[in-house]
Amino acid sequence: MSKIANPVDTVQQEIRFACEKLGLEKSYYELLKEPERVLIVQVPVKMDDGTTKTFTGYRAQHCTIMGPAKGGFRYHPDVCLDEVKGLSMWMTFKCAVVGIPYGGAKGGVCCNPADLSKGELERLTRNYLRAINTMVGPEKDIPAPDVNTNAQIMAWFMDEFSTLKGYNIPGVVTGKPIPLGGSQGRTQATGYGVTVAVKKACEVMNIDIAKTNIAIQGFGNVGSYTSLYCSKDGAKIVAIGEWDKEIGTYALYDEKGLDIEKLFDYKAKNGTIVNYPDAKRISLDEFWTLDNIDILIPAALENAINENNAPTIKVKIIVEAANGPTTPEADKILTEKGIPLFPDILCNAGGVTASYFEWVQNLMNFYWTEEEVNSKLEHILISAFDDVYNMHKDANVSLRQAAYLVAVKRIADNIKIRGWV
Ligand code: NAD
Repeated sequence: MSKIANPVDTVQQEIRFACEKLGLEKSYYELLKEPERVLIVQVPVKMDDGTTKTFTGYRAQHCTIMGPAKGGFRYHPDVCLDEVKGLSMWMTFKCAVVGIPYGGAKGGVCCNPADLSKGELERLTRNYLRAINTMVGPEKDIPAPDVNTNAQIMAWFMDEFSTLKGYNIPGVVTGKPIPLGGSQGRTQATGYGVTVAVKKACEVMNIDIAKTNIAIQGFGNVGSYTSLYCSKDGAKIVAIGEWDKEIGTYALYDEKGLDIEKLFDYKAKNGTIVNYPDAKRISLDEFWTLDNIDILIPAALENAINENNAPTIKVKIIVEAANGPTTPEADKILTEKGIPLFPDILCNAGGVTASYFEWVQNLMNFYWTEEEVNSKLEHILISAFDDVYNMHKDANVSLRQAAYLVAVKRIADNIKIRGWV
């Protein structure tokens, strides 16, 4: 078993390095090393059988100097204080790296949503909102979907907040259904943004994307749209690593390139790609050792690339689409092997950027087309990529360290001007 990295420790290491490299006084690190505030709440839910169950929920706001806090909330049995704190810290630096005016937040409720009926899920969501309602709002903290939370849950959240306040407040949450003020392009935005990062990474590495073989771990929201957009740019998606409740992990493989549109249709009909007939099924262990891959994109879950599989990886570049898919130990191994790794806080920031666009549209009550969303998104992500890449070259640090340097510098400038230290 690989050691599971504690997200708080992982982010603190990056902040400490960035503060030292930027020559900041220790007080900057002290200010940034923990969230500004964390709320732990008990959420009672009337169950369908007439009993009441109480669930523990959290909301952490890391640093609000750049603007209101922003970050999703998840429903999962592993939700705990350190996870929520660490993820809120990640969000601060992700927003700063793309230069959108938000701080970081994260929330969650420790529960197993698979055991809850639709009615129980709705009551859980409404009561979680009531428990944290003083902390959120369009000017304070704007949640969004995360693991096991979706547009319907955001709709209940927005409805409950609006009912409490007495008028419609769509800007309290993003990732809403379109009729309730959701943004065009939000569903595809993270995969679209990852593809922008893949194209920029190819450009700086002198790789022709149309001649690449790509392996992607995860065919959920992010992995599927990344596969689609990269294949439209001419790349061959040769392998997709996945997980299935019957057989566990597996991968689909076709050296000629999988037909992604067919895979979308297959998943829409069957809910899974496990029995997709037009590809060879290989194990996830084999997936990590494939030797004909140019670009590896982990787009499934945290700690996927670790000290066990990192030594077997033979690719030209890695583009992180999931949050925290590479452990610090694996990071070291890949650096020693000379494999450039384009980091999550840059490459998957398309999602939060499109969420920002949703919030802006809600505040203006004026809505954009998908083309407008995508062109604004591309502009922001390209400029963030250039900032990080230039920092990587100028400061002679890894791409991940460069992303933190860019973000911490922006935040530290605000801290100084406002006189917080
Ligand atoms: P998702 O639940 O839609 O998809 C995840 C996919 O990974 C699923 O298809 C699942 O079957 C698969 N999977 C699970 N365990 C696996 C394993 N061990 N091996 C291979 N595949 C496995 O989630 P998503 O929204 O696509 O998010 C994926 C990652 O991207 C997460 O780390 C998430 O935090 C991050 N992210 C998502 C967004 C977004 O907008 N959805 C934005 C930024 C970052």
